[in-house]
Amino acid sequence: MTSTTPTTTRHGLHLADVTLTYGDGESTVTALDAVSLDVEPGELLAVVGPSGSGKSSLLAVAGGLIPPTSGRVSVGGTDLTSVSSRRLAELRRTHIGFVFQSGNLVPALTAIDQLRLPLHLGRVDDPRDPVALLEEVGMTHRADRRPDKLSGGERQRIGIARALVTRPRLLLVDEPTAALDRHRSQEIVALLAREAHDHGVATVMVTHDHDVLHHCDRVLQMTDGTLTSASV
Ligand code: ADP
Ligand code: MG
Repeated sequence: MTSTTPTTTRHGLHLADVTLTYGDGESTVTALDAVSLDVEPGELLAVVGPSGSGKSSLLAVAGGLIPPTSGRVSVGGTDLTSVSSRRLAELRRTHIGFVFQSGNLVPALTAIDQLRLPLHLGRVDDPRDPVALLEEVGMTHRADRRPDKLSGGERQRIGIARALVTRPRLLLVDEPTAALDRHRSQEIVALLAREAHDHGVATVMVTHDHDVLHHCDRVLQMTDGTLTSASV
């Protein structure tokens, strides 16, 4: 991967005129309608909007899980829409982290082994140390616990740490506080902001939770597949 462009925005997330339609013929749905977006390294962006407005579709396209119908997506300076499927899988594994509502942890693994797992799935240049990262998310005292013995907030901390262990350029987070109480929600989004800022990770968080937006650097509103600036 080589990039000589000095434009720093290209090293976070860059979407240019991205459209995504599902289905064909009479039953097409336009989930993303000409979306352009730059997220800088170290920036935490929140995306709010009603159910069905296209928020999860935005994350899926930004993370290379679904190819856009048209437009371009680049992460860390690499155009996801022009690489081979093998290279795309590699970029997803090493450059892009995903965090889901429920943490999506592996039931049989202890907390520390959840963090080691991404490093066993293939080569990673300069990974973070799982033991130090576990401490950074405040979970050292739960290192040997499996997910069924962790609280919702603790599972979310492990899910975030696991997504960060490869030092991704881009972190995509879908409704991380949906299952948490108010206090835990604040802690989780504060943790996301700290990780984004301290480690230069471009972070996009979808949320319904307006109480956590003060942790975010920018808030955008998704409406019928279109992104606009939001008044918070
Ligand atoms: P949100 O996350 O904001 O609730 P989504 O991105 O999940 O929105 O959905 C946006 C639109 O795309 C909705 O109209 C939804 O019904 C539609 N949609 C999402 N996924 C699919 C799919 N796999 N096939 C067809 N339509 C879909
Ligand atoms: Mg969604």
